[in-house]
Amino acid sequence: MKKVVLHKGREKSLLRKHPWIFSGAINSTDDNIELGETVHIFSANNNFLCVGAYSPHSQIRVRVWDFNQIDINKNFFEERIKSALNFRKSVIDDKKYNAYRLINSESDSLPGLIVDKYNDVLVCQFISAGAERWKQTIIEILVEQLEPTAIYERSDADVRQKEGLKPVKGMLFGKIDSGEVIIQEDNLSYIVNIFTGHKTGFYLDQRENRKIISEYSKGKTVLNCFSYTGGFGIAAAANQAEHITNIDSSDEILTIAERNFQLNKIPENKFTNLKADVFSELRKLKSEDRKFDLIILDPPKFVEGKSSLNKASRGYKDIIMLAMQLLNENGLLFTFSCSGLMTPELFNKIIADAAIDAGINFSIIDRLWQSTDHRVTTCFPESLYLKGLLVKRD
Ligand code: SAH
Repeated sequence: MKKVVLHKGREKSLLRKHPWIFSGAINSTDDNIELGETVHIFSANNNFLCVGAYSPHSQIRVRVWDFNQIDINKNFFEERIKSALNFRKSVIDDKKYNAYRLINSESDSLPGLIVDKYNDVLVCQFISAGAERWKQTIIEILVEQLEPTAIYERSDADVRQKEGLKPVKGMLFGKIDSGEVIIQEDNLSYIVNIFTGHKTGFYLDQRENRKIISEYSKGKTVLNCFSYTGGFGIAAAANQAEHITNIDSSDEILTIAERNFQLNKIPENKFTNLKADVFSELRKLKSEDRKFDLIILDPPKFVEGKSSLNKASRGYKDIIMLAMQLLNENGLLFTFSCSGLMTPELFNKIIADAAIDAGINFSIIDRLWQSTDHRVTTCFPESLYLKGLLVKRD
């Protein structure tokens, strides 16, 4: 087994079971380690620390498979996948939901592997050198344990490039006629295009928040900004929202939103799908003196790296302040950030600053997170990227 030796004192995070080794922590390695090859990691004192996958092009040079000296083979992946599925059984009621995340990378001790279930189709992302190396084995196990009709790969995320891997998309197993799958969630149906949709097709991470928003929506006028294919809007309509306005900048996406409203038999006079830029549309609505009872802001990832954090913060503050000014008295604002680099503290501060600039007082009603199937372990808090706040206008 090839060997990697760390600099003195650089084993600290591993002793706390954090699964990443950065290039700067490494003192020496054996020669010619291949992309994703299994390596054994030792401290400067020659103590065994962990077994991991080597990624020669990435800043994260090793991702840990295990902290014990075990063999990494098919049996290892079988056990890991079984345990990931058991966790989902404990947090998901599969009578109500047939679409959720089955494997969440580091938090399921399978770094770089994402598997989402959309009814009987699986969508996978292999975003680390180690996961890529074991792809065929992983597919075999998914077929054996889950018997899906098809497995589709959406390894077209940018992060793959950091691992020296090219973006890829395509069928890995089975056959489907089109990229469209219909999923069920709390008696609602959503059309998901797994070939072209965002992420692996749908914002499964917002599932629990769809339910929460739906519970607040009865009789309310709702403005659903960055609506994507209508998720929050349909959940709100299902609980008798008075009217929903969805805003998104993409025609193609709004066409699916329209079909999703029809699929759930929501009367046409209950919703409007508006193609617009949220930044300018909120200003326009303000100039028209429009008001809403409940506003949702769920923008795309504004923060791409540390250098864009300030600019992104200004973007968040801008739309949050405008949305606050569009609320009726006692109105509710659900505001989200899916940027991992945006800390909950900074997000709270942005919301507080926006309220001051809007000249309105708000109370915090609830804090929101990603759905529990998007597992976060205590040793790997980086898994937690989605955060939201529900505030109420005084
Ligand atoms: N809330 C959605 C997910 C939002 S994803 C859900 O839960 O399903 C972000 C969406 O914002 C995408 O659909 C994208 O097309 C849209 N978008 C990005 N920039 C935009 C802008 N400036 N104005 C309007 N929509 C935008």
